[in-house]
Amino acid sequence: RQAEYAKLRDLPAETVDGARITLMMNAGLSSDLEALDITNADGIGLFRTEFQFLVSATLPRRERQTRLYKSVLDAAGDRPVTFRTVDIGGDKAVPYMMGDTVEENPALGWRALRLALEREGLMKVQARALIDAAAGRTLRLMFPMVSEPWEFDEARALVEAQLSRMVARGHPVPKKIEFGCMLEVPALAESLDLLLPRLDFLSVGTNDLTQFLFAADRANPKLADRYDWLSVSLLRFLKRVSDQARAARRPVTVCGEMGGRPLDALALLGIGIERLSITPAGIGPMKAMIRSLALAPLQHEMEGWLRRGINIRTALTEYASSRGIA
Ligand code: PEP
Ligand code: MG
Repeated sequence: RQAEYAKLRDLPAETVDGARITLMMNAGLSSDLEALDITNADGIGLFRTEFQFLVSATLPRRERQTRLYKSVLDAAGDRPVTFRTVDIGGDKAVPYMMGDTVEENPALGWRALRLALEREGLMKVQARALIDAAAGRTLRLMFPMVSEPWEFDEARALVEAQLSRMVARGHPVPKKIEFGCMLEVPALAESLDLLLPRLDFLSVGTNDLTQFLFAADRANPKLADRYDWLSVSLLRFLKRVSDQARAARRPVTVCGEMGGRPLDALALLGIGIERLSITPAGIGPMKAMIRSLALAPLQHEMEGWLRRGINIRTALTEYASSRGIA
């Protein structure tokens, strides 16, 4: 099938009824970048900047950060790249940053933006590195694990302060900075009316979101099969978020692993998600699925299924196989 997927490389991720789906890839290290050309992805929807910190024995200095971010933007060329500020802590412990912090519930603990807003120096250095790397281009930046809109405001203000400082000193800066927010904490969904007008885009991290929505540790193998990601609860939740963002004219991407599994992605398309950022290996199969799909009838069916609360996995599997959806 690899050869079959390779043939799709230069064809758009477009459904039979003409809906163009944006299919981007997730990345985190320089070694991921060659996948951009192999897959011909529409961009990098999630660049996990913490990977550089995780593979390093000491804090990566600003020059090293700048070099990496610049190489990512160079590799992407005209394609958009969304950098996520460091998401350290939780399942991504970095000993040299967190010291001997012992937490009873690290997933609910001092992690991601919570840590970064306190360790201001870390955020300032990273902001400068990103601004530097994107000089003359567009910088797309998003923040992980935001629970309340003020956290987004604070992070954005911190970046903007670094921008002003660099402008004042005559440093070259990006043409434009677009600010986005990850939605991975369920509480944030209840403040979307307040948050959406303040940002440029939203990205749903379904790995953490499902962990919090179902109160089920994403790293615990005993729970791995307990909750179906195609549950009515999760899909209703995601549909409300997607509808609300569309009404506010803010694009939504799903960048969790869920988007990389064809049946799960089918469900996401069915509730109106049009932008996915997935693992590079998933792009070929996903494009094949999209190009065999008529989107409007599926969306119509999904509405009924979600209203009636039927088993979505069973319904979708039957729907896909009876219509020859790849
Ligand atoms: C997520 O939580 O879904 C996500 C994309 O971020 P990470 O997997 O890096 O936590
Ligand atoms: Mg996450």
